[in-house]
Amino acid sequence: MDIAQYRRHAHRLVDWMADYLETVESRPVRSAVAPGEIEERLPDRPPETGEPFERIFADFERDLLPGVTHWQHPSFFAYFPANSSPPSVLAEMLTAALGLNCMLWQTSPAGTELETRALDWLRQMIGLPEGFAGVIQDTASSATLCAILAARERATEFAANRRGVSGEDRLTVYTSAESHSSVEKAVRIAGLGSESLRAVPVGADGAMRCDALAEALERDVAAGARPILVVATLGTTGASGFDRLDVAGELCRRHGAMLHVDAAWAGTAAIAPEFRWMLEGVEHADSFVVNPHKWMMVNFDCSAHFVRDPAAFVRTFEIVPEYLRTAEHGRVIDYRDWGIALGRRFRALKLWFVIRSYGVEGLRAIVRRHVGLAGELAEAIAREDDFEVVVAPRLALLCFRYRPSGIDDPAALDELNERLLHTLNDSGRLYLTQTRVAGAYVIRFCVGQTVTERRHVETAWSFIREAARGLPR
Ligand SMILES: *Cc1c(COP(=O)(O)O)cnc(C)c1O
Repeated sequence: MDIAQYRRHAHRLVDWMADYLETVESRPVRSAVAPGEIEERLPDRPPETGEPFERIFADFERDLLPGVTHWQHPSFFAYFPANSSPPSVLAEMLTAALGLNCMLWQTSPAGTELETRALDWLRQMIGLPEGFAGVIQDTASSATLCAILAARERATEFAANRRGVSGEDRLTVYTSAESHSSVEKAVRIAGLGSESLRAVPVGADGAMRCDALAEALERDVAAGARPILVVATLGTTGASGFDRLDVAGELCRRHGAMLHVDAAWAGTAAIAPEFRWMLEGVEHADSFVVNPHKWMMVNFDCSAHFVRDPAAFVRTFEIVPEYLRTAEHGRVIDYRDWGIALGRRFRALKLWFVIRSYGVEGLRAIVRRHVGLAGELAEAIAREDDFEVVVAPRLALLCFRYRPSGIDDPAALDELNERLLHTLNDSGRLYLTQTRVAGAYVIRFCVGQTVTERRHVETAWSFIREAARGLPR
């Protein structure tokens, strides 16, 4: 493809991209293809000679789009959002065009210095105290892994890096039973083993029980273990529980453990002061992660990781072979030493574009709209006799279930709600996911798409009622 063709195709694609956002609402939210269906449409051998772009793009539309689940659809209420926005996509286009690898300061000073500045903006926006330095990781999973590795090294005085972890170290990690699976995955990858992870039970509010955390810590210390880290969650994935940072922080201090805060989804809400209650005690945190790629209109991937003591992270990760040595080393930030990968995308650009385009007030307004819509939906659900709000909205996530009179058997209710969920999702009109609360199968409803308005939530709710009442019983 020469530059003249590139220019022509790029113009056409930009039009396609704008049309897509304008019409995404008319597409089925969740792809309806069967496993293997897309792969079957694709030739099993690569082409020996180049093909014209027109043909490649036509195949994209014909063969791939049916297999796309439309995350930017206004009726996407599943999981947590991975929302996006026009300024973010524009930045991503520039990022791709520049094709930088921001692994070292020298390999793109603007990449590093914009990252430092944009993350300090974000720190101020969400009300984190001064003294946290930020880095962009690809995902919250990576940030949590980095925190566990740094905690492991700090506890072993950086010896585990050299000799590996041994069973004799008896390092233990604590998190709530409702925390994200990425915590256990990180514990495994860090070589500590799942058995050294304590899943602390949650109370009725979905938050880690502080008394149970204190007991677990004391029991382990009495048995000769070394607690190295507590991972507290703000906004658990299942039903949005919020762990108490002040109490967890105090316990960490008492036992010499680090505190990592996973606020992957909920942290964005802290840009609005009325939602900052969740941050009480955050001054105790050593590490804090929030994903602008979930709820802050920044397209995937962009995970903001704030750390108290960057030197501990650098000491955990830094290896300087000759081919990566630069004259500035030690005087500048080389972000590759703050995480796992060497190569790093220029992700700060989209964060910067988004913050500047919307302004903090504009971003707050969107978050407030989402939270307000979830509250209105909960009220509407509570007004119906045959539905039940199981978890009242905390921010923009709530859980509900269909509970018609005459069905009391828990297994029958689970089965009914599971069928309801499949009926809803198969319709293509909206997309929802499930979780379990105290053993019961419930449907999660999370409002968070950039363009979701009241009418989308209202339409979803009337469709849910209609579908539930029409289910064969
Ligand atoms: C989404 C989520 C994660 C995982 O996020 P990734 O960025 O995809 O790794 C971790 N923790 C919580 C609480 C989440 O909501």
